[in-house]
Amino acid sequence: MIPVIGYSGQKVAVLGLGRSGLATARALQAGGAETLLWDDSPEARAKAEADGFALADLSRANSLEGLTLLITSPGIPHLYPQPHKIIARALEAGIPVDNDVGLFFRSFATDDWEGFDQTPKVVCVTGSNGKSTTTALIHHILQEAGRPTQMAGNIGTGVLAINPAQDGEVVVLELSSYQTDLARALTPDVAVFTNLSPDHLDRHHGMGGYFAAKRRLFAEGGPDRAIVGVDEVEGRFMANQLGEGPQDDRVIRISSGQKLEGFGWSVFARKGFLAEWRKGRQVASIDLRGIAGLPGAHNHQNACAAYAACRSLGLAPKLIEQAFHSFAGLPHRSQLVGERAGVRFVNDSKATNVDSAAKALQAFAKIRWIAGGMGKDGGIADLQPFLGAVVKAYLIGHSARDFALQLGDTPHVICETMERAVAAAAAEAEAGETVLLAPAAASFDQYPNFEKRGEDFTARVQAVLAG
Ligand code: ADP
Repeated sequence: MIPVIGYSGQKVAVLGLGRSGLATARALQAGGAETLLWDDSPEARAKAEADGFALADLSRANSLEGLTLLITSPGIPHLYPQPHKIIARALEAGIPVDNDVGLFFRSFATDDWEGFDQTPKVVCVTGSNGKSTTTALIHHILQEAGRPTQMAGNIGTGVLAINPAQDGEVVVLELSSYQTDLARALTPDVAVFTNLSPDHLDRHHGMGGYFAAKRRLFAEGGPDRAIVGVDEVEGRFMANQLGEGPQDDRVIRISSGQKLEGFGWSVFARKGFLAEWRKGRQVASIDLRGIAGLPGAHNHQNACAAYAACRSLGLAPKLIEQAFHSFAGLPHRSQLVGERAGVRFVNDSKATNVDSAAKALQAFAKIRWIAGGMGKDGGIADLQPFLGAVVKAYLIGHSARDFALQLGDTPHVICETMERAVAAAAAEAEAGETVLLAPAAASFDQYPNFEKRGEDFTARVQAVLAG
């Protein structure tokens, strides 16, 4: 745990008692703050009490009196569509509102660091897609390189729940737009922006607000190195603003598809090869085509981002290349879960929307596609241009019939359940094909979450392979 510095003896409220909220409460208490804890959900309150925390009803009038600070969880709206009532009262009273990320940046460095040979560093990853994969990949490469490293943030562990840094440690944080929007301190050494596509627009009041939230990671603290995906205009704009000119190598531009040669520092992937260019010369190249844990152009973008982050920490290209090969991928994101007679089985249950399903459909050549669930507005109409590689679709869940209508000439069958879909796809698949779960839909009609859906797929595949 990172004890929070600077609030000893002061009253700090924590709104939202999920995993990160409770970790924040512990870290505040360890730093000597008096905590007032609240959550609207009776279940979350009961869980906090069971864990030994005392509650304070922040919904009562006057309950914010004497507060130094209000800490909130990322799931609670702080501005749009409208601030949560308790946050609105804090704003009216002028009580600073912050989150665990802001506290982390103010508390991370300690006096022990004076005795260290190498100052600990923080790498932060944000963007619309690929955050978790890029974060996990950077962490994996650092582990393979023998550097002390910890991973936290949106990816699972609350940022204040990690251990205090060791000599030379690199902390890798995945940060969502909700987190970067609110944090009052944001001072990473290396900041990564993977890409931008519309998401969470209600919480940011549109695309401009969404981009502005992500941009704070670069604008507030001024990282030593900014790694910026320039495949969208927002990334090009930000890279432009952060550098003095094209030769300024504090900005590393990354791309999946574009050749970026005329810059101070760039890393790009084209036709399955990653290339690093510095000051007009190519300095390294990696063949990404055979790397099982990073299939598809979208993962090549993640590879470029992770490569650039590790290069800016001083790692050698050869070492990064080796670590790419041992990266297993994250569960439920283009994850290879089995192989039989030349047929691969891939779990991309996290492809809950059309955008991420489109990436998965472009990552493999001949696809037996398992799709469906709780479809989103518009169904799969926007996937039409990406259906060329689909040999046949196996449709499950609530949206099966709607998806069938939208598939038109693409061969398909309605299977209803995962069990039947896996059995049918496995029976019909031929060598060289991939059975791919990329639902393009939420999971809630049949599963509590996308993880459970992916686990069900994996279990069914393993049963087929064992039988
Ligand atoms: P995030 O943490 O940003 O949600 P993940 O790494 O968890 O990103 O991936 C989420 C989904 O998006 C998965 O379906 C994955 O296959 C897909 N994806 C991963 N990286 C990218 C990328 N760079 N661009 C677009 N889609 C991606």
